[in-house]
Amino acid sequence: MPQHFPMFIDGRDAEAADGASFESTDPYTGEVWATFPRGRAADAELAVAAARRAFESGPWSRLTPSARAKLLFKLADLIERDADRLAELEVRDNGKLIAEMRAQVGYIPEYFRYFGGLADKIEGAVLPIDKADTFNYTLHEPLGVCVAITAWNSPLLLAANKLAPGLAAANTFVLKPSEFTSASAVALARLAHEAGFPPGVLNVVTGYGGEVGAPLVSHPDVAKIGFTGSELGGQKINESAARDFKHVTLELGGKSANIVFDDANLDNALKGAVSGIFAATGQTCVAGSRLLVQDGIYDEFVERLVAFAKQARIGDPKLRTTQVGPVTTTAQYEKILDYIRIAKDEGAICRLGGARATGEGLGQGQFVQPTIFAEVRNDMRIAREEVFGPVLSCIRFKDEDDAVAIANDSPYGLAAGVWTGNIRRAIDMPKRLRVGIVWVNMYRAVSFMSPFGGTKRSGMGRENGADAIREYMQTKSVWVSTARETPDPFVIR
Ligand code: NAD
Repeated sequence: MPQHFPMFIDGRDAEAADGASFESTDPYTGEVWATFPRGRAADAELAVAAARRAFESGPWSRLTPSARAKLLFKLADLIERDADRLAELEVRDNGKLIAEMRAQVGYIPEYFRYFGGLADKIEGAVLPIDKADTFNYTLHEPLGVCVAITAWNSPLLLAANKLAPGLAAANTFVLKPSEFTSASAVALARLAHEAGFPPGVLNVVTGYGGEVGAPLVSHPDVAKIGFTGSELGGQKINESAARDFKHVTLELGGKSANIVFDDANLDNALKGAVSGIFAATGQTCVAGSRLLVQDGIYDEFVERLVAFAKQARIGDPKLRTTQVGPVTTTAQYEKILDYIRIAKDEGAICRLGGARATGEGLGQGQFVQPTIFAEVRNDMRIAREEVFGPVLSCIRFKDEDDAVAIANDSPYGLAAGVWTGNIRRAIDMPKRLRVGIVWVNMYRAVSFMSPFGGTKRSGMGRENGADAIREYMQTKSVWVSTARETPDPFVIR
């Protein structure tokens, strides 16, 4: 019998106004394991109204920054207490590996601690203003009601990236998780309630993007949208938000280049290439899905990579020993298989995989074999479009300039990896790559302390890092006259 997870609005469980619900399927067993209210415009309205009340009146608006920080610390403690349960909810919903989700969820409390720690350190300035008899200072204030909309691949982490800085800055939220992975968001809202967050500060509505997400984004009382998802979703949200000049942060897709020079430690680079594309079954925005390998080592490196990836254990994501799990959604599964067909048609050489994976231990899951294409050219669709699955494109390059040109010749600009033993190159390459994140001799590390985000079609704005709190604030300039007499009113002061 599927478990039902109500929404959470104004400090209470809530069903959809029209009573509708939808189902979530376990990507490994193929069974419906959970149901959720199917929210629509009326539910978005209730949630935004609750968030607005909480922002404008009530205990949240009167809390001191230090008291707000304590609530964030308390929430961090509760997430830590329930980390195993939350990780299991994620795995049921999105089929990612339990090993990965335990590590990810175990790290989320640190986001709330870090930004909680900043809550009472948001300082304005007294400006040495160049006007006589005038006192001028700045205040950094919250934006108001914020909407957080997230993708299915790392549900709680993507929510934490928005909620931790946004709540620390005293905003209130409506969180709309992906329709494929709503369970952990609802659980998080309940933990926030248990921690003592006043009603309406964190509301969660569940449902489809077009049905409940769009009315949230276009709601006149919403000041900011923090979005993680596809390029298409980001476009729609940006267009809608632009009509009312709302603030937006967009974390979108990528086609990141993982660049291996012939002077690199190739054993390490090999692991880096694998973590770039086969970890999380390639369902990660920062996937190093274009592997750029220098000419002289290309053949040997690709051969070693094929041998290494062939050993990957595919199977039940709930087993700690599994390394590659199922694809989360049917649409995504079909999309990956389509791209494999496209790559073959384009003339890329399939060196590993290239088909669905079936057989013992794979349950009813939708599995794709770890797939490696060699002799990919950067103008092929497989090198230009995001696959979001375990499909790697290996591209040759001649020298540093060639690597930079190929890496930057992409509509996206999220991340890049550089593998080299040359110190000049290790410092110079990050400057030349038009992306938001560069890893040198490592890949796929994230931290609440380090800014995260992309350039070009990978999005705009940054999450994480101390500056992320500013993405949820606006600056006010206050002018106070100390003059005994107001000067000529017809002349600007
Ligand atoms: P998606 O755009 O289909 O959905 C993301 C969220 O947006 C969901 O909650 C969905 O319901 C909602 N949504 C969709 N249309 C909407 C609309 N018109 N108005 C309001 N809400 C709407 O993306 P997805 O398939 O869930 O996620 C995969 C994508 O996310 C990939 O492209 C991946 O690269 C990207 N991603 C980016 C990052 C990052 O930080 N850059 C991280 C993870 C995933």
